[in-house]
Amino acid sequence: IQSKLPDVGLTIFSQMSQLAQQHGALNLSQGFPDFQAPEPLIAALGRYAQAGHNQYASMVGVAPLREQLAQSITQLYGATLCPEQELTITPGATQALFCAIQAIVGLGDEVIVFDPCYDSYAPAVRLAGGRTVHVPLSSDFSYDWQAFAQALSPRTRLVIINSPHNPSGATITQEDLTQLAQLTQEQGIYILSDEVYEHLLFDGRQHQSVLNHPQLFSRACVVGSFGKTFHVTGWKTGYLAAPPALTAEVRKVHQYVSFCAPTPIQLALADFMQNHPEHIQELPAFYQVKRDQLCAALTESRFTFSPSASTYFQLVDYRAIRDDLDDVAMARWLTEHKGIASIPLSVFYQQPPEQQFLLRLCFAKTTATLEQAGELLCAI
Ligand code: PMP
Ligand code: GLN
Repeated sequence: IQSKLPDVGLTIFSQMSQLAQQHGALNLSQGFPDFQAPEPLIAALGRYAQAGHNQYASMVGVAPLREQLAQSITQLYGATLCPEQELTITPGATQALFCAIQAIVGLGDEVIVFDPCYDSYAPAVRLAGGRTVHVPLSSDFSYDWQAFAQALSPRTRLVIINSPHNPSGATITQEDLTQLAQLTQEQGIYILSDEVYEHLLFDGRQHQSVLNHPQLFSRACVVGSFGKTFHVTGWKTGYLAAPPALTAEVRKVHQYVSFCAPTPIQLALADFMQNHPEHIQELPAFYQVKRDQLCAALTESRFTFSPSASTYFQLVDYRAIRDDLDDVAMARWLTEHKGIASIPLSVFYQQPPEQQFLLRLCFAKTTATLEQAGELLCAI
């Protein structure tokens, strides 16, 4: 077969998780919690499955979940979204991103992404016949709007942003959103906003959502993930919020990629959201404790870092330990010889910066795992 993605291999997340397993290393690479999901959520899933909710859901998602989501969006961002016409439940945020890209991008279109960027965007753009244009974030992972303005062309069709940002934990500001709105308005460029870590911000920071920015939202798709919010990445359930006309186009793709998300999972999530509104409110503090535990251990190590502002990832600089290894080699060495797996940052770039020695560690882990991680990191 002639490959449509000849240079695409196994994702770094699968690679590093496999390597960790092979060497019995502590896996802080791929982002997922190693603790149980909330008990009432698990119980609700069992209840709905037992009660016979095991056949296809509505293509757009079960009504109770879309209604809960609309309520939550109003509470958090002050926006009123129509659950019928503006919210769609998908099997994971990944699928929402893919469908939005297929619906918006056509042959020869250019899509601006900011490096380092999540790995699923570019292949989806290429499969749609488009081309990604990579604008580097600054060295502190903030936006460089001058560089962005230079990357715009008459072919620019879509811009993909991601805040809270994987892998850096940087967050977008209100001024950034205003800049983005201004620079894309005249051409009517679409925005795809990946906000899967929307609830995981620390030290009192507030998430700036495109949902809260009417001018941008009028030509935007916003993507979220129940997997991140409810500690159930394996349930692969996400959502897409977009104005009615855009939603209608994305649904045309979604109905033929998967048709719908799993029924009992959606019902369990709706039930849990309704009965446990405190879960989302408590998330920042819950994860901040974990970040602080990892950072306290790192302070005693030879890694350098500044505490992550958001997401469940912490970047560490290893140049004081081994500046003879690039980050991919370093991540392998740590997994094979030091018992701890991480993600190298260079894989998230079209053109990785020279002399960058950064690894990403996931702190969505139990206290015991983080203690063990601390011991391993301090011994390096
Ligand atoms: N976007 C980003 C930035 C992510 O980190 C992830 C999860 N790894 C996703 C999208 C995909 O989320 P889901 O697991 O719900 O498909
Ligand atoms: N988003 C997760 C991460 O960044 C991984 C998801 C996946 O394995 N595809 O680690």
